[in-house]
Amino acid sequence: MKISWIQAFLFSLCLLLTGTIIAIHSPGTGVSLMFFGMISAPIVKFIFPKLSFLKSLEGNLKKSHHLSAKCPHCHKKIPSIATRCSYCTADLTEQSVQEKIEKQLPSRFAVFLGIAMIFVIASAFSGTSSRNTQSTDPVSKAANEQKTKDDAAKQELLKKIELRPIIVDNSIGTPELHVTVRNGTNKTIDGIDLSAYFYNNFDEPIGKWNTKSSDAFIGTSSERISAGVSDSLLWNLAVYEQATKVKNVTVYRVHFTDGTSIGTDQ
Ligand SMILES: [Zn+2]
Repeated sequence: MKISWIQAFLFSLCLLLTGTIIAIHSPGTGVSLMFFGMISAPIVKFIFPKLSFLKSLEGNLKKSHHLSAKCPHCHKKIPSIATRCSYCTADLTEQSVQEKIEKQLPSRFAVFLGIAMIFVIASAFSGTSSRNTQSTDPVSKAANEQKTKDDAAKQELLKKIELRPIIVDNSIGTPELHVTVRNGTNKTIDGIDLSAYFYNNFDEPIGKWNTKSSDAFIGTSSERISAGVSDSLLWNLAVYEQATKVKNVTVYRVHFTDGTSIGTDQ
């Protein structure tokens, strides 16, 4: 496989232009692509022909049954791999005839253009995804750090709310979820949402209406629990009649009387 300087420079130009376009949105990726574009011509000219995957790509392209060419003798449409024309029966194996057929096939440059496009699209995608995950501008970076700090503080506060859950049957045999909440924070709670999972004595998950579903039970309460005080919250589990055990009880949202709240919407 031979690559002319014109092809190599066209390839470079292609990278350079796409790099410029990408640089508008993603400077890092765009500029590195532009830089690669600038130095790529000699690489394309001398290294690419030595790359075996490109060689086989070109070979496959030439051997492809789907490519058609015109018979140099009768100008009828024949497969590019034909050794004999099916119309005029001319022998097509001769070197000069092969060259004439080859000239009609999509230029090698098209192959490189294709590779360049794949490369460009790939780098554009990696550029956007890294842009989403890490912000480089200092203002939002600081905001992100502050947010992480706030989140950590909230998680600490959430840990200060201790739960002791238990399922007990009431006087008519309906299970009830009793959760003793100890408010270890220094604020008064006036809203608490928790999630829990119920099981029967076989440790099988119990969902609503005794289905074997492992959907979370969501319990909400707006009881006031002062700082340092324990209170017992109660939920009737009439629709979870077979529940005998409760696991993974977690507070996912708390509201305090000072108007602040922590946790996530669920
Ligand atoms: Zn022919």
